[in-house]
Amino acid sequence: MLIAGERREASSGRTLDVKNPATGEVIARIPRGDTDDLRAAIEAAVTAAPDWGDRLARDRGKVLGRAAALIRERTSQLAEQLTREQGKPLREAVDEVQGTANVFEYYAGLASSFADTRLRLPGGIDAEVRYEPIGVTGAIIPWNMPALLFAWKAGPAILCGNTQVVKPASSAPLTPLALAECMYEAGLPPGVLNVVTGPGETVGEALVAHPAVRKISFTGSSATGRQVMALAADRVARITLELGGSDPMIVCADADLDRAVAGAVAGRYYNCGQVCTAVKRLFVQERIADEFIRRLTTSVGRLRVGNGLDTGTTMGPLNTMAARDQIDAMIDRVRERDEGTVAAGGEVPGGSAAREGAFFAPTVVTDVAPESALLTEEVFGPVLPVVRFSTLDEAIRLANDSRFGLGASVWTRDPGTVREAARRLQAGIVWVNLHLKVPPEVPFGGVKESGLGRENGVQALQAWSEEKTVLLRA
Ligand code: NAD
Repeated sequence: MLIAGERREASSGRTLDVKNPATGEVIARIPRGDTDDLRAAIEAAVTAAPDWGDRLARDRGKVLGRAAALIRERTSQLAEQLTREQGKPLREAVDEVQGTANVFEYYAGLASSFADTRLRLPGGIDAEVRYEPIGVTGAIIPWNMPALLFAWKAGPAILCGNTQVVKPASSAPLTPLALAECMYEAGLPPGVLNVVTGPGETVGEALVAHPAVRKISFTGSSATGRQVMALAADRVARITLELGGSDPMIVCADADLDRAVAGAVAGRYYNCGQVCTAVKRLFVQERIADEFIRRLTTSVGRLRVGNGLDTGTTMGPLNTMAARDQIDAMIDRVRERDEGTVAAGGEVPGGSAAREGAFFAPTVVTDVAPESALLTEEVFGPVLPVVRFSTLDEAIRLANDSRFGLGASVWTRDPGTVREAARRLQAGIVWVNLHLKVPPEVPFGGVKESGLGRENGVQALQAWSEEKTVLLRA
């Protein structure tokens, strides 16, 4: 753990194993923190808050800029560690580490645009809207993109003058810890950022419930998000929730098919399908459906499943054996209930490596029944359900028929279709002829059960500040 800038063991002395999902081997033992450790971290954050909040945003930004440079320098070590604990192919881990540096650089660059606003009102009144730090904040992150999501929260929170306690996921805590250390090497004063490892049900809940923590930013499943929201409601703590998704991808008959196939493959199988904004439901227009499915299954067949550290691997394992078994059971149910046709994959690949690792073959299921869990639940793994549609109206209705609303994409050459889809799709982000890309410059978040509030963009500066209005009469 990292408390007040120092590495610490758990006060109980207990540990948790971190395993490489490709081999099952234990790669690290991390402290199994509990509420005592969490309290120590919050105290450190409380102590550090006044001085950090008083500094110039420009000085705070410099720390983020230096941290970004260190992260870039260490890209290969950080990426290798990320692959070992999370499973993704090294190339994707490098992308994520560079994306993390991009986020810190972006917020470092915003430091000088962080300004209070002034206006003159009738009656000789001057108004000021001041952006003040919230104080001590909490960040709870999942295991699927542990580096990037750390940066989405810590970057703007720290720039805005807050202090923070981060709770990483227990199956991918090493990269967030290494990133926090980069921030200290970059000049962060002790206690401004603290990382407490340990179970969500103890450390996570205690972080959300602690009265000193004025804002919680949570990224994870919708089920846990609901618990976080209920707990935060007790004391009206500010919350941002980035939750699950079941993103639709609509492929119209006039789309560039090769681009759409490449987009579907990247959109679904990147990070072994474990991305909140992965393509989780694909709708293809009847007229081109057979040809599209033929090209899709051919392209999926070319993915090389293996240990993310091996050159040539294009899809790694799932993050845990339990997640692999869940996906396997889901496909068994589809077969038993005749809810679709497995057109590619659909099984645990053979071979001894596959037995040790959490591998599952990249899977395509066509002609999926509307009641199938593949369409109604968030499937966090490499399974793509494909459904045919005839009109744009029908596609949009099917796409919106979900309790989630994170992202959605439409693939077409027709400007009218673009306008219609952008207007009617219920999602926090709509992509046209692309999917998955989330640059730090634009706000990101979901509608419906996919979340509450936005991260990224200049909007994050407001989200991590308290606005105080001051009215002055001379
Ligand atoms: P999860 O909800 O199980 O865990 C997320 C984090 O919450 C972990 O650190 C966990 O330890 C902690 N936690 C667990 N129980 C808790 C509790 N009762 N109180 C407080 N904290 C608790 O999610 P996961 O399986 O790690 O991540 C996958 C999910 O995250 C998927 O649903 C995915 O869509 C979602 N996700 C969303 C986004 C987004 O930006 N919308 C991004 C990435 C992942």
